Amino acid sequence: MEQTILDNEIAIRLLFFFGIFALIGIWEVIAPRRALTMSKAVRWASNIGIVVLNSVVLRLAFPVVAVGFAAYVNQQGWGILNQFEIHPLLAILIAIVALDFAIWLQHVMVHAIPLFWRLHRMHHADLDYDLTTGARFHPLEIMLSMGIKLGVIMLLGPAVVAVLIFEVILNALAMFNHGNIRLPLALDRVLRLAIVTPDMHRVHHSVQDDETNSNFGFNLSIWDRIFGTYKAQPDLGHEKMIIGLNRFREPRDNTLPRMLVQPFIGKADDYAINRRSWKQPEDKN
Ligand SMILES: [Zn+2]
Ligand SMILES: [Zn+2]
Repeated sequence: MEQTILDNEIAIRLLFFFGIFALIGIWEVIAPRRALTMSKAVRWASNIGIVVLNSVVLRLAFPVVAVGFAAYVNQQGWGILNQFEIHPLLAILIAIVALDFAIWLQHVMVHAIPLFWRLHRMHHADLDYDLTTGARFHPLEIMLSMGIKLGVIMLLGPAVVAVLIFEVILNALAMFNHGNIRLPLALDRVLRLAIVTPDMHRVHHSVQDDETNSNFGFNLSIWDRIFGTYKAQPDLGHEKMIIGLNRFREPRDNTLPRMLVQPFIGKADDYAINRRSWKQPEDKN
């Protein structure tokens, strides 16, 4: 089983990637949530360009990535999950939830530490919000994320299949919850009890700093509810809210070369959590 996964990992991931991409892409055309504000051709060229660049960077910078490293960690008997007799299915479930919590914590951290916010803000600088936004991360942040993920895998000792399932779910849900797609509101309400919906994550892409620093979850919505960083809806509503950051508002800021230099431009004190200057939110819930 493990060897089959390792041999076919790329094929499995690509199959899910293109399948979900096509599905959400068609959904965006049939039932869009908002009108886009800038040329889709320019944004898609940049956002897909950065995905290709990140794949090359990862391959060059890391001899082994998550799934392969999990196999190695298990061979060595490392990690908490390898120290106990746990039913394999339960161990997979624990691993997936733990990996999701780790990625939530990491997301809070890249908003809290100004140096890391410089890397992460490129994800937020997109002036529109659609499925390609979900894959738009600076190569330096991609390397930081992979380093952290390998560390978590070493501590946790998850099964290879758990890491693969987690990566496929993360990929699929990133495209889903960044989708410019309309969901029946009742369905959104039910779904977001457990998972992050497009309307929930869109709040995180608002120019308003209290909204940017809400809804850090990518897969499970429970972490934001537990830790008090949940905000149900944007103040201005989904159609009127402004997407992006105050600093990068020119359409040319969304071209690939400019996106790559964004970490090095200006100060990083505009949104980072520990330099908060926004007034306390008035809503009582
Ligand atoms: Zn963020
Ligand atoms: Zn996002």
